[in-house]
Amino acid sequence: MTRYVYDFREGDRGKADLLGGKGANLAEMTRLGLPVPPGFTVGTDACRAYLADGSVPAGLFDEVNDHLREIEARLDRRLGDRFEPLLLAVRSGGRYSMPGMMETILDIGLNDSTVTGLARISGDERFAWDSYRRLIQMFGRTVHGVPAEEFDRELDALRATAGADGPTAEQLRGLVETYKKVFADRVGHDFPQAPHEQLYLAIRAVFESWNAARAVLYRRREHIPDDLGTAVNVMAMVFGNRGPDSGTGVAFTRDPATGAPGVYGDYLADAQGEDVVAGVRNTVGLDDLARIDPASYRRLTGIMATLERHYRDLCDVEFTIEQGRLWMLQTRVGKRTPAAAFVIAAQLADEGLISWDEALTRVTGAQLAQLMFPAFDSDAVGEPLAVGVGASPGAAAGRVVFDSAAATAADGPVILVRRETSPDDLPGMIAAAGILTARGGKTSHAAVVARGMGRTCVCGAEALEVDAERGELRVGGATVRAGDVISIDGTTGRVYLGEVPVRPSPVTRYLAGELAPESDRLVAAVDRLLRHADAVRRLGVRANADTAADAARARALGAAGVGLCRTEHMFLGARRALVERLILADGPDEVAAALAELLPLQREDFVTILAAMDGLPVTIRLLDPPLHEFLPPLPELSARVARAEALGQDPGRDAVLLAAVRRMQESNPMLGLRGVRLGLVVPGLFAMQVRAVAEAAACRVAEGGDPRPEIMVPLVVDVRELAAVRAEVATVLAGVPGAPSIPVGTMVETPRAALTAGPIAGQAEFFSLGTNDLTQTTWAFSRDDGEGSFLGEYLDRGIVETSPFETLDAAGVGRLVRLAVTEGRAARPELTVGVCGEHGGDPESVEFFAGAGLDYVSCSPYRVPIARLAAGRAAVARACADSDAR
Ligand code: ADP
Ligand code: MG
Ligand code: MG
Repeated sequence: MTRYVYDFREGDRGKADLLGGKGANLAEMTRLGLPVPPGFTVGTDACRAYLADGSVPAGLFDEVNDHLREIEARLDRRLGDRFEPLLLAVRSGGRYSMPGMMETILDIGLNDSTVTGLARISGDERFAWDSYRRLIQMFGRTVHGVPAEEFDRELDALRATAGADGPTAEQLRGLVETYKKVFADRVGHDFPQAPHEQLYLAIRAVFESWNAARAVLYRRREHIPDDLGTAVNVMAMVFGNRGPDSGTGVAFTRDPATGAPGVYGDYLADAQGEDVVAGVRNTVGLDDLARIDPASYRRLTGIMATLERHYRDLCDVEFTIEQGRLWMLQTRVGKRTPAAAFVIAAQLADEGLISWDEALTRVTGAQLAQLMFPAFDSDAVGEPLAVGVGASPGAAAGRVVFDSAAATAADGPVILVRRETSPDDLPGMIAAAGILTARGGKTSHAAVVARGMGRTCVCGAEALEVDAERGELRVGGATVRAGDVISIDGTTGRVYLGEVPVRPSPVTRYLAGELAPESDRLVAAVDRLLRHADAVRRLGVRANADTAADAARARALGAAGVGLCRTEHMFLGARRALVERLILADGPDEVAAALAELLPLQREDFVTILAAMDGLPVTIRLLDPPLHEFLPPLPELSARVARAEALGQDPGRDAVLLAAVRRMQESNPMLGLRGVRLGLVVPGLFAMQVRAVAEAAACRVAEGGDPRPEIMVPLVVDVRELAAVRAEVATVLAGVPGAPSIPVGTMVETPRAALTAGPIAGQAEFFSLGTNDLTQTTWAFSRDDGEGSFLGEYLDRGIVETSPFETLDAAGVGRLVRLAVTEGRAARPELTVGVCGEHGGDPESVEFFAGAGLDYVSCSPYRVPIARLAAGRAAVARACADSDAR
């Protein structure tokens, strides 16, 4: 026969899958000899069976009764006994803590006759009737869904008429009668008097609460599986509401907000746990408990020290003092802020409680990312002007500008305000302190680009009417003009009028070299943990950088090279005209002339980047996007030409451009003439870029530098494409004297490239996995289209758990990654393999890449420290898991 029920003395903290977190930790405390009221746990498998069959598994209540009898014997009290009644708490608790989501029912066992027994053994009639009314209310709400207000209304009415000392026993007895009426009216039958029936119904209600709407929602948000089920903990009641020498509280072994050492908590005298949550009265700090009841305080802090040493981590506890006697009702490894996570991990390692390897597993790259954002001074914020989507976290204040040119021209911080952004806004987005749009969500152009740059961004603030022509922004009745100051919070999506003071992150200041590591506790902890990550990690971290400034910043943040230098950004701005000339060129001579003009500009770009990354590899990608991206958009051109024609003017160059755009238009540009295909069909384009790289390197060598460029060919699907480009590259390189040897490699960003990685490696000295395109081509939807329309619903409906563009899809794209690594290295053992998609800065993906045996990840400069930390974690995670299991 299956067994479902376990006494607290049988379990331990290793059994959280079966006993739930709360049950496993109650068992652990029992094992440690701490004062836990006796009890037992109904395992999660009983809940799963109940939810599957819709009925309580056979034999479950018999087992419950057996365990109950044991508690009765130990305490010498019986459930339902009118002289010596035992009362029970019935508490939910699944594998993962879901605070406030699930149900607890206290005081099970009270009825019209046991209430008098409770009054007698406690010598306190008021307490007994108060407990009874609590039970009716909790039971009514939890088992039958009677709204708490229906009871509270009666309680408030009584309180209003009661004297200064609160309601008398007689009045509370009357309140119980009223509650029973409310119960019967709402539920359709009387409050159950049989204590065992109360217990069974309560257990069932806890099972049911697993599927309550709020619990389902919470699990979805926290990525907790729906099929785990909850355990049910049944334990003897202890009473914190038995006068001034009783009370209840919660405490932490360290400050969960800052990580500062020293116990920290709240206490409420003469109260039960639910009073604390309900905020009936104000709690006092633990220091006050030290004064009110020094013996219990000493006992409590002693226990907390034991727990922290035992769990080797910050613990939180729930406790109750019943007439001077301390009882432990719950403990767990406590939740904490990102700052506290770093501080506590470093402290515990310093104290010798954990190793530095383990300390590294206690912090995540995502937490570090949060610590790097500036924040509004929380005391200074007022009413928001509008609320949009918090698309890229951080806080920024600045003068409103409505276009890219104004943003780049301004001195002092500006907020770029657009209805929505396009690639043309890039210079403005780079120049602005923050970006605000009226349209689009978390995955709009503005959001994606802003996150990539680490720029604060609020999107889709739909209340805003952006009128760029008139240089104003209307919201409600108010008008904000260009030059007015606004503040945006990219975490909450709030937009404020005026300047809200922003506090820069000390961690970012430290990373930028502006703060010494020892300047504060948090910074010291981050420094120590990052250094440890660097010492243990095997995965290299490079940065994606297209400019010398970005390269220098990345280097300061610990990047060991540039993993992706995109060259398309170098063709924008003033150089767009040259690209237009190239596109419109008529015959090889004009093409050559256009390329010749681009060559020195391109060479200069590379010289500065190679100088910034002197001595470290710089992987330069040959031109990737379709050429028409450098021409004006079709609707704009057609309109200009039509207008000119209507006015009887000669549209001139516009007409030529329009013809070119029409000629080059593609139904699916992403799958069209771009990448290596472009290099093969536009003669001389790649050759010019390669020559620029080689000449730049030669120039750096002449200057005494140590340039290490690498040439990367994008979007290869067949080895013959790469072979053709390589032949051209070799010819060009041979013609540049003084250049160092320059490796040539390829992006692996299509399924076919991954599937034929072996032959491709025969032509490639390195692979760089372009996981953005690899994800798009594997999932067969583009990032913009997916995120712009159905992906949100997929997330809501749980079809996907996270966007595959944020965290690498290990099951699908991940297999292609592994294939490329294995077959590529089989063909060429010394093949270097890196990643240059945005996934390279996502901590979870970084851990995957480390496991897949990659040599390095490349990410945006400001994510470099995050990737360093994640790579360190990945290196020690396995070792720590092994030692935990022992
Ligand atoms: P949650 O998971 O929401 O914290 P709990 O199961 O911990 O729910 O119960 C809520 C409150 O009920 C606790 O804070 C505690 O004060 C009170 N409680 C739980 N068990 C007992 C008990 N055996 N005796 C008295 N009060 C209890
Ligand atoms: Mg609860
Ligand atoms: Mg609790």
